[in-house]
Amino acid sequence: MLIVIGVILGLAIGSFLNVVVWRVPRGESVAHPPSACPRCGHRIRARDNVPVLSWLVLRGRCRDCGNPISLRYPLVEAGTGVAFGLVAWWLGWSWAVPAFWYLAAVSIALTLIDLDVRRLPDAIVLPSWVVGLVLLTLAAWNPGGDPAWWSLVRAMLGALAMGASYFLILFAYPQGMGFGDVKLAVLLGLYLGWVGWSAVVIGWFAGFLIGGLIGVVMLLTRRAGRRSKLAFGPWMLVGGWVGLAAGPSLAGVYLGLAGL
Ligand SMILES: [Zn+2]
Repeated sequence: MLIVIGVILGLAIGSFLNVVVWRVPRGESVAHPPSACPRCGHRIRARDNVPVLSWLVLRGRCRDCGNPISLRYPLVEAGTGVAFGLVAWWLGWSWAVPAFWYLAAVSIALTLIDLDVRRLPDAIVLPSWVVGLVLLTLAAWNPGGDPAWWSLVRAMLGALAMGASYFLILFAYPQGMGFGDVKLAVLLGLYLGWVGWSAVVIGWFAGFLIGGLIGVVMLLTRRAGRRSKLAFGPWMLVGGWVGLAAGPSLAGVYLGLAGL
């Protein structure tokens, strides 16, 4: 049931994320004006604004001018629906669900914006520190169950640890990343810390591992030169989710192998 709610909510949020990804890097308001076709300027009718379905019904073309509508729009909507469904499946009925739905939405928006314009806008990252902390406070409070205040303290320590380590790396090797990555590390550290220290460690390593591998592949396939600036945010985010989902169990396997 919660998974169904998650998928439906995710489809709707995904539709909003398409607006965010287009407008935030351009410094435009996400609330106003209403969505319009970028080619002919006609406003999108409500019945043509249903996630995924409208794109299929219109066969990927604007109702007014017939120009193609990017396949990316329905893919982002479907992807967000799947992501929200997975979070619901992972956490079940828990007060942590809103916090992680929020992180999923922010992860998708930031990944696309960073790939598009090589930036992680403060307008998204900085408010997310506050929203993430408020939603994780709700999760720690856990109305109707036992509170988990230590998880909240650990979340804040995780944010500090991730932010500080990225800041040191930026300081030592400024070509490798940008200050936007440091601010994103604080947000990821908050969530990783909430899950546990093993998640922080795995999430930290996985980000660099995945980012490094992608960088090597891009160099080898000559999609990037030695000096081109690669987006690092998406790989931090993927690594972060690996840490969140697999951190505790991977750490268990590792400690098991080490015979501890
Ligand atoms: Zn049009």
